[in-house]
Amino acid sequence: MERFGIFGFPITHSLSPVMHTASFRSLGLDAEYIAFEVTPEALARTLKACQAEGFCGLNMTIPHKTAVIPLIDRVDPVAALAGAVNTVRFDADGKTSGFNTDIGGFLTDLKESCGCAPEGKRILLVGCGGAGRAIALGCVRAGAATVFLANRTEARAHEVAALLKPVATRTAVEVLPSDPAYWCSTARTCDVIINGTSAGLHAEDVSPLPAAAFCPNQVVYDLVYSPTRSTPFLRCAWAQGARGVDGLGMLIHQGAEAFRIWTGRDADIAAMRAAVWKEK
Ligand code: NAP
Repeated sequence: MERFGIFGFPITHSLSPVMHTASFRSLGLDAEYIAFEVTPEALARTLKACQAEGFCGLNMTIPHKTAVIPLIDRVDPVAALAGAVNTVRFDADGKTSGFNTDIGGFLTDLKESCGCAPEGKRILLVGCGGAGRAIALGCVRAGAATVFLANRTEARAHEVAALLKPVATRTAVEVLPSDPAYWCSTARTCDVIINGTSAGLHAEDVSPLPAAAFCPNQVVYDLVYSPTRSTPFLRCAWAQGARGVDGLGMLIHQGAEAFRIWTGRDADIAAMRAAVWKEK
């Protein structure tokens, strides 16, 4: 049996086991996918243990995406630049390879769910944490005209801008002050607005942007996913006639890309989607 898994801390919320298991079953693969609660201290030894036990690949989620990088033999250049590996493959030569499939998952779902590609667009990204940094890199690599970076802690947005500078040959990258009033006025001039903050994960959360930030026909994308597919950010945007979705499609597509990296085969995306819907 081929074995795969995910490391996180905590891990109970993860939809990845149910999603991958559905795809394995539908493709007739003799494979399993296990969720491991791994503390930061246990990361290196649990990775080694999985390799020794013959695992084929792993996903990494919070808080391991950056910490795993020094433990990987071959890190894909885009993942290195993003500073985040979410997919590890155990190779036949005994080495490990690391990739970032969050970026591809986001771009694929932006196209599929919103009919939108970053090329030539003015994009506002609110939230420059681990996921935001990867999404900003994806937008720059995909040829966005301008990427505005907004973060509650402004220094973090400047760090991301510095990181993007060498690759932003076609894109103007601008950091906004941490005062949300600037985010709001800039948002109204943008084609695409992305929530990369974790605001929206909990019922009591408020949107990082008010309804006044949005205009009709803008595309909005919330990395947060919710059982109802509706988040505070999306509700503010929809109220003004903007269109967009939560991050569930990104989750599915990042998983499908990881599966391709591990097996060289296409995942059954329809089975993954159905399983995740049923779970929610
Ligand atoms: P992270 O590294 O902890 O970053 C969190 C970010 O949210 C930071 O920019 C933080 O700002 C900001 N933030 C938190 N609370 C805020 C608030 N109340 N108002 C404004 N900003 C706030 O987390 P992450 O890994 O980037 O994940 C961010 C979100 O993306 C999470 O909801 C995660 O579930 C989601 N995500 C989804 C997928 C998917 O497949 N759909 C994949 C990856 C991540 P400061 O810097 O000021 O603290």
